[in-house]
Amino acid sequence: MSKFEILINKENRIDEEFYKKFKLIEIKNFENETIKIEKRTYKEFLKFKKEVFKKENLEINILNSFRDFKEQEKICKEYVEFYGENLAYKLAAIPGTSEHHTGLAIDITVKKDDGKFAESNDELYAEDKKFLIIHKYLSKYGFILRYPSDKTEITKYNYEPWHIRYIGKNIAKKCFEKNICLEEYYNKYLAKI
Ligand SMILES: [Zn+2]
Repeated sequence: MSKFEILINKENRIDEEFYKKFKLIEIKNFENETIKIEKRTYKEFLKFKKEVFKKENLEINILNSFRDFKEQEKICKEYVEFYGENLAYKLAAIPGTSEHHTGLAIDITVKKDDGKFAESNDELYAEDKKFLIIHKYLSKYGFILRYPSDKTEITKYNYEPWHIRYIGKNIAKKCFEKNICLEEYYNKYLAKI
């Protein structure tokens, strides 16, 4: 199995050093802040972004990608304070269980009709119609929608139209064609890890 195909979820944790397997590069996000992302993921993202703009006239951008354990811990704390413990862990991953630790996951945003990029979760959900169009182009560039709306029971996460994951074209195409999430792919096609 290629390192790009790793399954990371609540049951399959990674350690704090895992990101060292990947080549992280520094790029600018939608706000012109410097963030880190895995190199191949970014290369494919740029091609994906270009095609979506050309074919659909929708402008997408990156909110964030790589996060270390400390940043993830901070997010969890904020979510627990805001949403309470039960809901918080459906929305945020505890350190070691987030795909963002690899730089293979990207939270994307789309330009709203007012010309600004959607930022908050509420704003992002409000653009769902645009995201549904965007999602159709993911697999061609090796990405999957990691937390689909009809798989929340399996992924144990709420629907996130913005969270995409680079996994490589083979698995991405299979997941898209068969309408299965990554956990289902692993159960069906790979020996359990
Ligand atoms: Zn995310």
